[in-house]
Amino acid sequence: MELVNQGYQIQGLSVLALAEQFGTPLYVYDSSVIQRQYERMQKAFSSTRVKINYACKALSNPAVLQFFRKLGAGLDTVSIQEVRLGLMSGFLAEEIVYTPNCVSFEEVIEAVELGVHVNIDNLSILEQFGHAYGSRVPVCIRLNPHIMAGGNSKISVGHIDSKFGISIYQMPHLLRIVEAHSIHVEGLHMHTGSDILDTDVFLQGAEILFEAAVSFPHLQFLDFGSGFKVPYKPGDIETDLHELGSKLSDRFNAFCQSYGKPLTLMFEPGKYLVSEAGIFLARVNVLKQTTAALFAGVETGLNHLIRPMFYDAYHHIVNVSRPEAQPRIYTVVGYICETDTFGWNRKISEIAEGDLLAFYNAGAYCYTMASNYNARLRPPEVLVIDGQAHLIRERESFEDLIKGVKWLQM
Ligand SMILES: *Cc1c(COP(=O)(O)O)cnc(C)c1O
Repeated sequence: MELVNQGYQIQGLSVLALAEQFGTPLYVYDSSVIQRQYERMQKAFSSTRVKINYACKALSNPAVLQFFRKLGAGLDTVSIQEVRLGLMSGFLAEEIVYTPNCVSFEEVIEAVELGVHVNIDNLSILEQFGHAYGSRVPVCIRLNPHIMAGGNSKISVGHIDSKFGISIYQMPHLLRIVEAHSIHVEGLHMHTGSDILDTDVFLQGAEILFEAAVSFPHLQFLDFGSGFKVPYKPGDIETDLHELGSKLSDRFNAFCQSYGKPLTLMFEPGKYLVSEAGIFLARVNVLKQTTAALFAGVETGLNHLIRPMFYDAYHHIVNVSRPEAQPRIYTVVGYICETDTFGWNRKISEIAEGDLLAFYNAGAYCYTMASNYNARLRPPEVLVIDGQAHLIRERESFEDLIKGVKWLQM
């Protein structure tokens, strides 16, 4: 979204007009930002064989998945339903990696039957896998390198208490299982968490993965997960992809030399690819001056955008209706009967009731975390491609809300 002649636009389309056309609250995604981010990553790793698998839990609308397929991305999935969405959106099974956590073995069997790459993160599942398939079905193994990554413990998954991955200290046991069942290990994987700023964390993790990789002679790829940081606040710094790309590619290429064959370097970013592509639009229902603060109460809440309340995430807020007005200090709150504050003490151009606010970074983990709490309906989603706005999901209706309800006969 950019400010052009005192009006906010996306690919030349007026944001106010989009809100009029599709109604509010509304999610809008800018495909050119998705493409820019994808190409940035490709470019950063252009000196090695890189494959980018979009982690679709960030934003799983099938039209967005179709767009990624067209860009040439693969797909990273965490549930059998995401696998299905990927297949329906045109991805080939071999382009999909399935990285579940604490799912039943029945779900793993389903994934094998659909033909996708399975990434196993538990010795018990690995044993069952070996027992069921022996060397017939190749498998990827998710290791936990135990490096502390990310500033926020709620989104850091590589630490010692984490439930994710097979601990690097369990390598001897892991190797015994692999050997006993002649398991064909085609990939090693690590994913240390989200919001990683320090490229050294990646490089540290990479060394651990290289060390482990020597024990597996049939590898095709090494998957370094994700966790790239994107700017949320104006002036925020992001992961230096250029630096990471050149350092990691060099080490990766050197490793492939010593390993004896070229492997594919994989990443599975979610947030990096879609966070900045999305804005969430909602109107101000009421202004409320209390003794403590000036509240702007919007027509949405934690049911549509939960990150501020769930992770203390900062989402920048602007007044689309009056970008040039004198800024005042507002606390922006939702309409849910629950404390749902989007932002305390935000400097926003003077708001009148009915004004349209835009929340930035609404591409990743926003719509996909939306719910029907307070029996509210989920908003529609619009994807802008080549200057054209496409409605890619309708606003929910009351009928959607009661679908599947079995009324008591009384
Ligand atoms: C969530 C997740 C990702 C994506 O993380 P981002 O921080 O959105 O880039 C990648 N891989 C796995 C296994 C995940 O669970």
